[in-house]
Amino acid sequence: MDAAEFRRRGKEMVDHVADYLEKIEERPVYPDVEPGYLRSLIPTEAPVEPDSYEDIMKDVERVIMPGAASPACTELETVMLDWLGKMLQLPECFLAGTHGHGGGVIQGTASEATLVSLLAARCKAIRRVQSLDPKKSEAEILSKLVAYTSEQAHSSVERAALIGAVMMKKVPTDNLYAVRGEMLKKILEEDKAAGLIPFYFCATLGTTPSCAFDHIADLGPLCNQENMWMHIDAAYAGSGFICPEFRPLLNGVEYADSFNFNPHKWMLINFDCSAMWVKKRTDIIGAFKMEPLYLKHENQESGLVTDYRHWQIPLGRRFRSLKMWFVFRMYGLQGLQAHIRKQVGLAKEFESLVRADKRFEICAPVVMGLVCFRLKGTNELNQSLLKKITKSREIHLVPCQLSGSFVLRLAICSRSTESRHIQQAWQHITQLAFELLQEHHH
Ligand code: PLP
Repeated sequence: MDAAEFRRRGKEMVDHVADYLEKIEERPVYPDVEPGYLRSLIPTEAPVEPDSYEDIMKDVERVIMPGAASPACTELETVMLDWLGKMLQLPECFLAGTHGHGGGVIQGTASEATLVSLLAARCKAIRRVQSLDPKKSEAEILSKLVAYTSEQAHSSVERAALIGAVMMKKVPTDNLYAVRGEMLKKILEEDKAAGLIPFYFCATLGTTPSCAFDHIADLGPLCNQENMWMHIDAAYAGSGFICPEFRPLLNGVEYADSFNFNPHKWMLINFDCSAMWVKKRTDIIGAFKMEPLYLKHENQESGLVTDYRHWQIPLGRRFRSLKMWFVFRMYGLQGLQAHIRKQVGLAKEFESLVRADKRFEICAPVVMGLVCFRLKGTNELNQSLLKKITKSREIHLVPCQLSGSFVLRLAICSRSTESRHIQQAWQHITQLAFELLQEHHH
């Protein structure tokens, strides 16, 4: 949708809402639908080619309005997470379908998804230990539980352990900044020998510093063997898995208990929209269930409805699946894949520019839309370069530390980035680097 169409559609939408408010008394107060009504009204998969905006708006009246906010809000979410799960070729066990044990939910952020998974894992671990040894108190077990994540994991993972009041240990990574099975295994052996109880591992697919991918196909079986919950945080990179050429990076997801990524980061869906799937929904429901009288409803024991309030920390929730429905249909799977491929192509374009300049080096494999690079030389030199770049306010780069080196990061994520922006950015960077190196020589 270009700016002209967006203006037109936006104005139409204001009329649509005003009409709704003006005629609200003609609408029924209570929806006249049965639980599960929505799934049969829409296709089982996202379209490959785009649908027209008119058709989507017609479907809002046909599919959503009869189910008003409830149950339409819940049911569209379950079906959209199935659509998205199929786009990623997630194993069937993560999908809700009509009688699956898994399913998806929209959380606000990856931080929340990690926290929810850690709390569910904690609850499951305490129950498991108590079933083997009923005399052990919860406090005693809690003090022995250990969670693990990569030393390259996002700070939100460490924060989840802090909020969940459990110990967390950082697992070292290989020369490509990824965790391998043997590295986790070594620490687990030591910790078990010391009487600790490993219960949770958060793998990262697409780390924040360098977009590294933990080896989940080795780590998964190890976690399963050790009765540890494996959560996968693919906050940024997850969107890339809709392209078959990147899907192998997700191999091993079948061993995970939960998986999460942020369509709001790289899939053109507005903030906030963090998609989370669990293999056994009873695991998270079991950790958070509370049933006061004012939240009871007649369908709750029927097994036909999903109560997302048990899958998350807040009670109330917004109708966030509508924006997924719109984006999936406006772009079609092919349109979304084209978006990812274009951005990866731009990252590769930038990578070749860096590689062609002997003064610079690439610091980590360029797999998706992130390029880690630096001037060959000291950290101080690179810090000065970044200072110059920031001061000139033409482009925005966020640095990271890799193996003790200060590294610059070029991240491509805007829908409107084109090749000419990449060329301009590189010209700008090399001009400032030239000035900097001259200053250093004098
Ligand atoms: N995990 C990874 C790997 C990230 O790169 C980020 C970055 O923002 C996060 C988690 C945090 O995401 P959120 O803001 O959705 O909590």
